[in-house]
Amino acid sequence: MELQVLVVDDSEFYANHVADALAAHEEIQTTVRTEPRLARRVMSRTEIHCVVSDYQMPEMNGVELLESIRADGHDQPFFLVTGEGSEAIASEAIASGVTGYVRKDGGDDQFQELTNRIINAIEQRQTQQKYELLFDNMPELLAYIGTDGVIRTANPAAREAYGADELVGRSLFDLLPEADAQRYVAAGRDALDTGEPTRLEGPIGDRQFSQIYVPAEIPGEPPMFQVSARDVTDRREAQQKLEATVEKLAESNERLEQFAYVASHDLKEPLRMVTSYVQLLEGRYADQLDEDAQEFMDFAVDGAKRMQAMIDGLLEYSRVDTDGDPMEPTPVGEVVSDVRDDLAVRIDDADATLTVDSLPTLVADPNQLRMLLQNLIANAIKYAGDADPRVHVSAAERDETWVLAVEDNGMGIPASKQEAVFDVFNRVHERGDESGTGIGLAVCRKIVERHEGEIWVESTEGEGSTFLASFPKAADTDREATVTASETTGVGQRGGVE
Ligand code: ADP
Repeated sequence: MELQVLVVDDSEFYANHVADALAAHEEIQTTVRTEPRLARRVMSRTEIHCVVSDYQMPEMNGVELLESIRADGHDQPFFLVTGEGSEAIASEAIASGVTGYVRKDGGDDQFQELTNRIINAIEQRQTQQKYELLFDNMPELLAYIGTDGVIRTANPAAREAYGADELVGRSLFDLLPEADAQRYVAAGRDALDTGEPTRLEGPIGDRQFSQIYVPAEIPGEPPMFQVSARDVTDRREAQQKLEATVEKLAESNERLEQFAYVASHDLKEPLRMVTSYVQLLEGRYADQLDEDAQEFMDFAVDGAKRMQAMIDGLLEYSRVDTDGDPMEPTPVGEVVSDVRDDLAVRIDDADATLTVDSLPTLVADPNQLRMLLQNLIANAIKYAGDADPRVHVSAAERDETWVLAVEDNGMGIPASKQEAVFDVFNRVHERGDESGTGIGLAVCRKIVERHEGEIWVESTEGEGSTFLASFPKAADTDREATVTASETTGVGQRGGVE
């Protein structure tokens, strides 16, 4: 980087002498002026990084030049060179804010040192400028505040937040409601006392800010703290809206479940009456009824039974979330064994084969896990194709989940219906002997969702279906799950049911 240094001295010889000495440094370029008036003009026209000026000049002395340059709005480092050392000049120079003060008679070492000090001063100013740019342009509010609550420094974002043209010298107690001012100053004092940042959220003006208070102890200055604050009004509002929506949704869901429960519960009684009176009719007047009437009666009883089953299903569906048991580590292998026992007759009747891989332990509601697998395995047998049903249960790790799979060689499900089968009362295959209510898979989906997982089906019509259910892995059962899986491997879990 090139550093432009302006050398001002009424003696052209000496000005050039200084300029040459400085220009020996590769980064420095010099401009020489012998009249302060012309020096000022150079400053306003070209980029100058530093000024080195003689003290004794006929037009104005070096300190006067410095003052006029500052008055012009230039804040570059300014070094003063004097011919004769005088205490009076030195103290005047320091009082007027020169960056450095050098004697002319110091020899070459003097210039070497001056060069270093010039480079240092310029670098310092650059750092300062970067800091100021950051301070002025950052979207966050930034301020330094004394323990008395009086603002010492504040950036434009702070002025905007407070809606004030000037904040320096003003107290938080004048700017904010008493309680807020008190809380903020206390947070700053806390930070100073503990040396740790204090965080809080609170209003400034009509906006909400997330604020961090840190101690800012600067040598030579009374203790103060720094506060940086970010406007979180929009984020907070969005979050509140989201929370309100979620709450509403949960309420409406609960009402819906309550409704389903009450409706199905209250429907049961009149239905029972229909069934029992039709049966009573059948029992008492059977000999007076012809064959047609007998048949109609059977249809009526069948219909009522079917409706009963649907109501039971709805009740079960509405209870998944409300009547669930707590989650606990549940070995899936044992659950499948139980299901196999429960379905033994059906497996036998259908000449089905059920094979099982080694399965993990999941954190789950054991009853619901059993319901899920019972539904899936029963369906796999129920919706068999022409061949004897073969059902296989397995598990695989996928990212952060365990995916259970129930695979069959049955009739399959057309792609267009694969989503819909999980809806309430949705049936794809209508065959007399496969009486069902179309609620089983809806219950399955609700169970899996209560476990924060997903359920889906992969299927090819005429070849078979695989129902898959994912369960998030719980950190504490991971190991157990792995142990279970490896322990059971090779124990001959794969096996048919005769
Ligand atoms: P249900 O069995 O009482 O009809 P489900 O909700 O359990 O109700 O299933 C919905 C529909 O999905 C079934 O009617 C059937 O058409 C289809 N289905 C379920 N499981 C299978 C399967 N393993 N193979 C083929 N189709 C199936």
